[in-house]
Amino acid sequence: MYNPFEKAMMQLDKASQIKKIDDNLMARLRQPDRNIEVSVPVEMDDGSVKIFHGYRVEYNNALGPYKGGVRYHPSTDINEVKALAFWMALKCAVVDIPMGGGKGGIAVDPKELSENELEKLSRGWVQKLSDILGPYKDVPAPDVGTTPEIMAWMADEFGKITSDTTGAVITGKPVEKGGSLGRSTATAQGGFYVFEALKGFLGIDRSLTTVIQGCGNAGANAASIWYKAGHKVIAVSDSKGAAYNPDGLDVDKLIVHKSETGSVLDFAGSENISNEELLELECDLLIPAAFEGVITEKNANNIKAKTILEIANGPICPASDEILFNKGITIIPDILANAGGVVVSYFEWDQNLKGEKWTEQEVFGKLQPIMASSAVAVYKTAQELNINLRMAAFILAIQRITQAI
Ligand code: NAD
Repeated sequence: MYNPFEKAMMQLDKASQIKKIDDNLMARLRQPDRNIEVSVPVEMDDGSVKIFHGYRVEYNNALGPYKGGVRYHPSTDINEVKALAFWMALKCAVVDIPMGGGKGGIAVDPKELSENELEKLSRGWVQKLSDILGPYKDVPAPDVGTTPEIMAWMADEFGKITSDTTGAVITGKPVEKGGSLGRSTATAQGGFYVFEALKGFLGIDRSLTTVIQGCGNAGANAASIWYKAGHKVIAVSDSKGAAYNPDGLDVDKLIVHKSETGSVLDFAGSENISNEELLELECDLLIPAAFEGVITEKNANNIKAKTILEIANGPICPASDEILFNKGITIIPDILANAGGVVVSYFEWDQNLKGEKWTEQEVFGKLQPIMASSAVAVYKTAQELNINLRMAAFILAIQRITQAI
C-alpha cells in the first residue's frame, strides 16, 4: 500500500520516463523545499487543553509564492500534505499562473469542535506559522473541511501579528473580508470550462448522463453547473451515500434537500445507493468531487463511465489509471480539471494587492480563457507525444517549473 506522496512520486517517475527530466532537476522535484510540523494547543470549551497536529509543506516556489489550501480532516498527515503540495505546484504551472505549490492541514474533524474551538485552532495554526506565511511568501486557502470563515480568522490573525492590511496572505476569504466574487463556484466552473474546451476534441456533441461523487463546495456546484447546462445528472453522493435516478435528478431540489436534511439520501423520486455503487454506474461522465483514492485496482475494472473529469485531487490511484486507460476511458486530470479554484484564488490575491474589486462577470471572463487555453495546450501535448492527458498535463507543468528553476 503506497502513501499519497509515494503515489505522486510514481506519477513523476512515469512522466520522466516519457520525457526525460535532467537528474539534478528530478532531485529538486522529488523533495519539498520545506516540511513544517507544528503542535497547536487549544483550550477547549470544557477547560481542558488539547494538542492538535498541524502541517505546512512548501513544495516549490520557482514560479511564485507557495500557494495551496489548508485541510482539516482526521486522517491528514505529512505524506498527504506533501502529495497535495506537489500537485499544487504542478496545477499552478499547468494553468500558467505566477504561483508555486504548497499545502497545509490539521488532523482534526472540524465537525467535532465548537465554533469557538475551531476559531482558536485556526488562529493557533497561523500563530505557529506566521513567520513563513505572507503575500509574497506563502499564501494558504481553503480545502476539505475549511471554510471562508476560517480563512477570515486566519487572515485576521496574520494581520494582528504582522500589521499586514492587504489580506492577500490568505485567499478564499468571505467577499466582505476581501474575498473574490466567484471563488465559491470557481473550481466547478473551471472544470466546466475545461470540459467545454475539450468536448470537440473528444467527439462529445450531445448532453451527457453525469454522475457526481461529493456534494460539498466542488461537487454541489458541479452538479448545479452540469444540470443547468442541460446534462442529465443521474446520481450525486455525500459521505453517507448517493441519490440515484436513471431518468435524472432535479439538482436544484436535491441541493435544498441536502441543506434541509444534512444528506442527499432519501430524496423524493430517487433510490439510495452506496458511494461504491455510484462509482460503478453506467454513465457518459463521472465527476469524482469528494476525496482522493476512490478508484483503485479493486473497482477500476467495474467503472463504466466513458469520461472521468477529476474535480477531486487524486481520486484515481496510479495502478488503476492504467486499467482505465486500457479500457478506453478518457481521464481529464485533476491538476487541469480542478485548477479553476487556484486561478480565482490568484485573482483574489491580485485584487487584494492592487486594492481592486472585480465583478463576477470580470472574474469568469478572465477564468474562462485561462482554463480553455490550458486544456487545449494539454490536449495538444498529449497528441504530440501520443500519451494520455494526465501525463501531458504533468509534462507541460514540469517543463514550466524546470525552466523557471
Ligand atoms: P467539501 O468538504 O466541501 O466536500 C467534500 C464532500 O465529499 C462532501 O459532500 C462530503 O460529504 C463528501 N465526502 C466525504 N467523505 C466521503 C466519502 N468517503 N465518500 C464520498 N463522499 C465523501 O470539500 P470540497 O472543497 O468540495 O473538495 C472536494 C474535493 O475537491 C477534494 O479532493 C478537494 O481537494 C478538491 N478540490 C476542491 C477545491 C475547492 O475549491 N473547493 C479546489 C480544488 C480541488
